[in-house]
Amino acid sequence: MRSYDVIIIGAGVVGSLIARALSRYTLRVLLIDRASDVGEGTTKANTAIVHAGYDAKPGSLKARLNVAGNAMFDRLCAELDVDFERCGTCVVALSDYELATLRELHQRGQENGVPGIELLGAEEMRRREPALTDKASGALYAATGGIVDPFGLCIAAAECAVLNGVELALGTEALDFTREGQRITGVITNHGEFRSHWVIIAAGLWADELLHKAGLDGFYITPRKGEYLVLDRVAAELVHTVLFPCPTPLSKGILVTRTIHGNVMLGPNAVDILDKDDLATTAEGLHEVMAGALRLVPSLDSRSIIRNYAGLRATGGTGDFRIEVPPELHGLLVLAGIESPGLTASPAIAEHVVELLREAGLSLAERPDFDPTRVGRPRFSKLNRDQQQALIAADPRYGNIVCRCETVTEGEIVAACHAPIPARTYDALKRRTRVGTGRCQGAFDTPLVITIMARELGISPLEVTQKGGNSRLLYRETKGAAP
Ligand SMILES: Cc1cc2nc3c(=O)[nH]c(=O)nc-3n(C[C@H](O)[C@H](O)[C@H](O)COP(=O)(O)OP(=O)(O)OC[C@H]3O[C@@H](n4cnc5c(N)ncnc54)[C@H](O)[C@@H]3O)c2cc1C
Repeated sequence: MRSYDVIIIGAGVVGSLIARALSRYTLRVLLIDRASDVGEGTTKANTAIVHAGYDAKPGSLKARLNVAGNAMFDRLCAELDVDFERCGTCVVALSDYELATLRELHQRGQENGVPGIELLGAEEMRRREPALTDKASGALYAATGGIVDPFGLCIAAAECAVLNGVELALGTEALDFTREGQRITGVITNHGEFRSHWVIIAAGLWADELLHKAGLDGFYITPRKGEYLVLDRVAAELVHTVLFPCPTPLSKGILVTRTIHGNVMLGPNAVDILDKDDLATTAEGLHEVMAGALRLVPSLDSRSIIRNYAGLRATGGTGDFRIEVPPELHGLLVLAGIESPGLTASPAIAEHVVELLREAGLSLAERPDFDPTRVGRPRFSKLNRDQQQALIAADPRYGNIVCRCETVTEGEIVAACHAPIPARTYDALKRRTRVGTGRCQGAFDTPLVITIMARELGISPLEVTQKGGNSRLLYRETKGAAP
């Protein structure tokens, strides 16, 4: 039976950054996820905002880790070669009554130690954001707010961890734990049993179920669905910062933001549901999203919509993150209720987890050869003409544009299929290269993409799936995707 110092259950952004943080030390670390790729949980479907930190209740773990995590993003994204921009965020008051909310948020921000927050008048706000509704009566501006590529961050963190010796086991589901008295001694999975001195639960929506398996009752996660609309790049000139309405008791409200990839994104709404796998969007929900976004930016055009999707918040009910070594069990560290701003807080959460493990007695000797960096693969569309020509001269496959909307080349698809964590499904490739994410949503290029993936992965085109399991893309050969 294989044996580790630490097993991390869940390779979302939190688990992957914990794995990277632990790979600094001479530890045998295993990162497992039941999905076919890293970042397939909430990490792949959120608003991708790096929050400044004025929302969370002063004194809470959420507030502390939000502000600390935000401050870590410049260095983290530089080390991991991940797209990140501090474009600033604005909470907009749409009536004089809401100005009081802005003042409260400003006060809370100051208590939480958020740098660079200021209250702006209506005139100044419209000067900065000309497309903003003329009903805006003021805004809270946060200079440290930003936008990031959330799945890019997760993939990069997991790659960095793997390059530093962490073992990654995808398609591996934690079913139960082994224990000796009050000590957790390992994890029972669909691929057998693994022993470990420490087990970390970073399983997002499913953390409560694993807690119950470990014998820790009384904590439940409610999935809170948020639906989104993505607009074509033509809309990107409409917004410069992230525009939030005033928050509601359930969420930060339906916002309008640019994405790091140059689209505009609207959403999310907030609906508590029962099914943790229910990522379906509804006509009703999408209408609510559009209506909410129009309140902020009335000139948004629904004809620019190219995609919709939903994400599920892992709402724990306490209003705070639960990150602890439960006193009644040894060898277990729990992360639960990592709802928003979990993405922002994730690098600080990883450092906090290392400290909790150190305090609990885990011996942490630094590895002399630890490398915090990870070099991303070339992205043709981001290069200048000379760089593009040099790339094509070195490998002519970079001269073959496969995805015309996002200018993704065959060379990038090939590189992603042979990366430290290879893209083995269409969705994994999409998250690594942006293939199929543009205006045509893959309508033109999918057959060619399938052909290239099958060739590179050494499988039949019929075996290429969207996200593993039974999600095959083809049921018979086509002219476009022949073996
Ligand atoms: C609508 C919405 C908007 C949001 N917006 C923002 C935002 O703008 N900014 C921000 O900072 N945060 C935001 N968040 C929160 C943020 O997305 C999450 O806090 C973060 O992604 C949580 O990451 P995670 O790694 O904890 O969870 P996940 O990404 O869900 O990862 C958990 C992983 O565990 C795996 N897993 C589960 N059970 C098992 C098992 N038994 N065995 C093996 N693997 C298992 C899953 O497959 C999954 O990959 C938003 C969330 C939502 C839903």
